[in-house]
Parts: sequence; structure tokens; C-alpha cells
Amino acid sequence: MTPAYVALGSNLGQPQHQLSKAVAALEMLPDTQLVRVSSIYRSAAVGPGTQPDYLNAVLLLTTNLSATVLLDAMHQIERAQGRVRDVHWGARTLDLDLLLYGNIEITSSTLTVPHPRLQQRNFVLYPLREISDTNLVMPDGSDLDTLLRQCPDDGLVRTDYRLLINQRTKSR
Ligand code: ADP
Ligand code: MG
Repeated sequence: MTPAYVALGSNLGQPQHQLSKAVAALEMLPDTQLVRVSSIYRSAAVGPGTQPDYLNAVLLLTTNLSATVLLDAMHQIERAQGRVRDVHWGARTLDLDLLLYGNIEITSSTLTVPHPRLQQRNFVLYPLREISDTNLVMPDGSDLDTLLRQCPDDGLVRTDYRLLINQRTKSR
């Protein structure tokens, strides 16, 4: 099983509900276990025009799916929750990003791991630290605590909302 960290974000369609639904869907993926989920964080939107604030979270899975198959499954979940890809970085019901997949680096036309903007995104780095027992080391040797020191938490709020792990029985 490979550990995989996934970032969740939503700023449309009752974001808290979107995140809960996404957690349940990820939990139901075959050959995959949900290990840990961060608190929900609130952040101001980055992107074109005026957009509602985002709710964000990060979770840890262990999986036997390849990174490509996992990304495809994540895109299916985005679509199932009404994600429309029109404006780049526009408002969305659900964004699922693969942050880290084991300790490997992937560069293909559809998938870059570690996620290329991980280092600049406080709404990714802070929840990632919340669910890591130790300082995570990235495939390039950089470490999470150092990245956090370089990434101001301005505007990021850790909310009291929690995402529940359902542990529903799934058929394999
Ligand atoms: P963003 O997440 O930066 O707001 P999108 O969700 O619209 O942007 O994703 C744009 C493209 O990024 C997707 O079509 C996907 O194939 C690609 N991509 C590359 N690497 C990753 C990754 N690690 N996680 C998620 N998507 C990725
Ligand atoms: Mg994305």
C-alpha cells in the first residue's frame, strides 16, 4: 500500500457538504483505505473575479491504485459532484488534488507529483502538518516544517468543523 495525500477544496454548493461527500466517495474507492482527515480550513479564494471563500482539507489514504488511476477516480468524483471546468481557477464545487504519492516524483502531461503548487499554498501545508505525526520529507529532500516557515498563514482559519471518517463496509 502506498500512502497518498489528497487536498480537497470547495467554494460552491454548500462547501462543507461537498467536502463530506468527497471524503465518503474517496473512502469507497477500491483497494484504498482512508487513514486520517484534517480539520476544515477556510481561505480566501485565489483566482479570477470575486469568489466565495474556500473550505479546504487534506487527507491521507493508503492505496494499491496507481497514481494515474487514483487521479482518474478523483476526477470522476469531481464530476459526480457537479464540477464544471470552464474558467481556470474559477469557483468550483469540488477540487481534488493529489499532493504526494509515496516518495515518488511523477511528471506527465496530466499528472505532476508532488503537486506543483503545494509549497505556496498555506491551505494545503497547514492541514498536511495537522495530520502528519512527523515532519514530512518531500521526494526532493525539502521538508514540511521548512516549507511551513516560508509560507505565511495569513487569512487561513482553522475552523471547528470536522470531517467524519465513516468506515462504511465496502465490497472489494
Ligand atoms: P487546480 O487544481 O490547479 O486549480 P485543476 O483542478 O483545474 O487546477 O486541474 C488542472 C489539471 O491539473 C488537471 O486536468 C490535472 O490533470 C492536472 N494535474 C496535474 N497534476 C495534478 C495533481 N497532482 N493533482 C491534481 N491534478 C493534477
Ligand atoms: Mg485540481
